[in-house]
Amino acid sequence: MQEIAQKQEGECLSTEYKAGKKTMEFRCKETHKWRATAKSIRSGNWCPLCGKRTIIQQEASALVSNFHRQAIALKGLHHKGIKGTLRELIISNFIKPFLTSQFSVGKGIIINKNNNQSNETDLIIYDNRILPPFFEEQKIGVYPAESVVATIEIKSELGKDEILKAGEAARELRGFVCNPEMSVFNNIGKYKSLNALPFCGVIGFYSKSGNTLCKKGFNDWLKPNATGLSEICLVGKCSWLNKTKGGWSLELADENYEETKRFIAVLIDNFRKYAEEKFRIISTLEADQPWLSYYIRR
Ligand SMILES: [Zn+2]
Repeated sequence: MQEIAQKQEGECLSTEYKAGKKTMEFRCKETHKWRATAKSIRSGNWCPLCGKRTIIQQEASALVSNFHRQAIALKGLHHKGIKGTLRELIISNFIKPFLTSQFSVGKGIIINKNNNQSNETDLIIYDNRILPPFFEEQKIGVYPAESVVATIEIKSELGKDEILKAGEAARELRGFVCNPEMSVFNNIGKYKSLNALPFCGVIGFYSKSGNTLCKKGFNDWLKPNATGLSEICLVGKCSWLNKTKGGWSLELADENYEETKRFIAVLIDNFRKYAEEKFRIISTLEADQPWLSYYIRR
């Protein structure tokens, strides 16, 4: 059995040979595990999960694998600023193919009509149907709070300190700069009650604290310390998702980068839902708001 499994670049996990209808456990090179009979394996059957991956799933994994490889290769660069900027570009280029045309990606400052401003934000995803970015050059700019649907902080090293910092920025953004009360739509009741605040994530490439970040027990630390954040991803290792009910849920990496694919897919699915609802509410005739006038007129 081991010999056949090795030919498939996998392994037979059962230590005892079982004949007839009894099954043994196998693992494929993608680390999927399943049980099968000796007869089925001898007749050429192999991992049932590998065969089920669609071309879109495979392509998405390849995209992550590619950006991961590029980001790791940059590790050798000495200049911290350029290294960081290049990583941001790599990630924003990775996200773009998954966005429909109403969304765009930039970097910079988020501002509201009262002139309250965010910190420098690595990656800002905004809905370009709502308001345009101000002063945008080469995708660096100033973005009106109402149009921002998500932010991602990009770190080379990701540990507790970075999560604390990102959480602080997220709370400031959600509670203050993007607060519906301070928006140009603050007299639309439905807009305020929708409470469609930006989803804030943080993504990193190395962990200072070894694998602590990817242990189930890390949940206990995240709960009080990462409020404001929706998602955390350590590419190639694991990702955490803040579920409204049930707290933080962990996904460990596999060879297909399921952890990073979850990070991106859940983020986009979430903000998209709220962005549609938000756009619908502010586009009704009753909600006749002079959006741009609020910003640019005296
Ligand atoms: Zn498999």
